[in-house]
Amino acid sequence: MRLYSDSFEKIRNGEKTIELRLNDEKRRKIQTGDTIFFHHCNREYDVIICTVTGLYHFKDFKELYRSLPLERCGYTKEETRNAGSEDMLKYYSLEKQKEYGVVGIEIRKNSQSYLADCHMHLEYGDLSKEYVLQFVDEAVKKGLHEIDILDHTHRFKEFEPCYEHLKVYAEQKEWLKQPTKFHNTLDEYISLIDEIRQLDLPIKVKFGLEVCYTRNTETMLRKILSGYHFDFLTGAVHSINSILYDMSFSQALLWNVYPADQIYRDYYGALADCINSGLFDRLAHPDTIKMFHIYPSYDLSETYSRIAGLLKKQAMMAEINTGCHYRYHHPDIGLSDELLSVFKKEGVQLITASDAHRPFDVGSYIREAAERLK
Ligand SMILES: [Zn+2]
Ligand SMILES: [Zn+2]
Repeated sequence: MRLYSDSFEKIRNGEKTIELRLNDEKRRKIQTGDTIFFHHCNREYDVIICTVTGLYHFKDFKELYRSLPLERCGYTKEETRNAGSEDMLKYYSLEKQKEYGVVGIEIRKNSQSYLADCHMHLEYGDLSKEYVLQFVDEAVKKGLHEIDILDHTHRFKEFEPCYEHLKVYAEQKEWLKQPTKFHNTLDEYISLIDEIRQLDLPIKVKFGLEVCYTRNTETMLRKILSGYHFDFLTGAVHSINSILYDMSFSQALLWNVYPADQIYRDYYGALADCINSGLFDRLAHPDTIKMFHIYPSYDLSETYSRIAGLLKKQAMMAEINTGCHYRYHHPDIGLSDELLSVFKKEGVQLITASDAHRPFDVGSYIREAAERLK
């Protein structure tokens, strides 16, 4: 359930222990002992987990307001003097109350944190229900509450023209010929998403894309993406001036050829363009450019502040992506301490992500990453 900031904070502080709702079809399914996830209305991954300890049904809010202790429903003692059931009219009309009735949901806050792995790929498997369920099973085993699946745009035929610029290098041309590239259509992915939505799954599952962004392909990307709707779009920079920076051949094509300072400037320049494009809800692995342990000679703090400011402006979330740690053996579990502290200071919304490419890797280091967000 989504909550406005005020109610959300009151539940978090233990000042509100009864949530008031219309008793519509969705609420009728709630039973005592159930777990409820309260999501902050503007911060999707700020979640309070509660257990339902009681359910109080009434014909309307007038009756509920007469019967339940209002100090537990979100009012201060002071406010209860002027509180009235008309306060609920801005959410639910009298007609709706009459049609469904209303319910006071008594809750007890759980000490558990909401664990979400917001980045994983079906890349090495089929677009099939069975394969998705392997990711779900692993997530349940690891105690996650949510997984977000996002295949790369290079899985889909529609995006093939957006990778043309990489083909000037023979190694990249070969890489793009791999059987995992451009072998499905977006419609096939949409059908899979529709199929999964029909299932009653034990955790939340969202679907999006990891879009390989470049300045020169932005217009093409915008056009393709405008025809589809996904739960989210994650923007990623994987190449600098048409050279991939994270491949085994990247040393020879990029790192041994260009100065690190230039690579870093171009990378963060591309990242800024990616954010400014306004195409994306999330930014993938903001500092994976560090994966080969090559660092610039200049101080990055100004760059980090600029990136944080742009993310805030676009209301984009940034990943703390643990892939660099367990896939590329970098000591950082996701973002560097420095970048993480800038993001926190600037109030950038952060999400935890494993970048799993196999079901087995779902949830890798997610608890550690979540700990770093506190
Ligand atoms: Zn990526
Ligand atoms: Zn990825």
